[in-house]
Amino acid sequence: MRILRPFRHLLGLALPPRCAGCGTPVAEDHRFCAICWTGLRFLGPPWCAGCNRPFAFDRGEEARCAACLVDPPRHAGVRAAVAYGPIARALALRLKYGGRIAFAETMARQMLRLLPDDIDLLVPVPLNRWRIWSRGFNQAALIADAVAALSGVAHDRTVLMRLRRTILLRGLGARQRAKAVSGAFAVQPGDRVRGSAIALVDDVYTSGATSDACTRVLLKAGARSVVILCWARVLSSAADD
Ligand SMILES: [Zn+2]
Ligand SMILES: [Zn+2]
Repeated sequence: MRILRPFRHLLGLALPPRCAGCGTPVAEDHRFCAICWTGLRFLGPPWCAGCNRPFAFDRGEEARCAACLVDPPRHAGVRAAVAYGPIARALALRLKYGGRIAFAETMARQMLRLLPDDIDLLVPVPLNRWRIWSRGFNQAALIADAVAALSGVAHDRTVLMRLRRTILLRGLGARQRAKAVSGAFAVQPGDRVRGSAIALVDDVYTSGATSDACTRVLLKAGARSVVILCWARVLSSAADD
């Protein structure tokens, strides 16, 4: 294992490898046991050309879902490794609240296959400073670090800033969510973003309100395109994505 070797002892990887989903011993780091592996729904084509929402059957390369036809997204796609479910959720929670930061690489390994070829820069969805102080890290930045190490694509965790805390978006309607995150993000002055194809990195894609607000400021700052790259995506609430 070449990647992130200096951090191995910090991440507890000197211990016997365990399944990232349930903790059962497995053959290698970043592997899942057979039960968790089959419990994960890996996403890929056929999917919507606008938002990469998977289709049950192939409708052709340019086909778009109903939501994208009604309201074309600003982003250039939502690339999620897996559908949000019990195992995807367990992993995200163990990274975020359990401090199991090695799982950032476990996620990144599954996200790599969905990273478009033309991406110039990885940008994590920022946390506000209060959250970083209390948690000690930004999980999106850890995932972006791991994707950068595995892919060789540049990563900049300072280019996008969160200007204020936002209220919990859960339970809000689409319009309220958009309002709650409006003005919450800004791009650092400078030319880093201009002309770049950006992958905005996050752990879980839920309603899209946060990533949409980030996409908006990145495009305004001159980004050529913004793709959202994440570990898991909530697919059940078709209506409000
Ligand atoms: Zn397992
Ligand atoms: Zn779509």
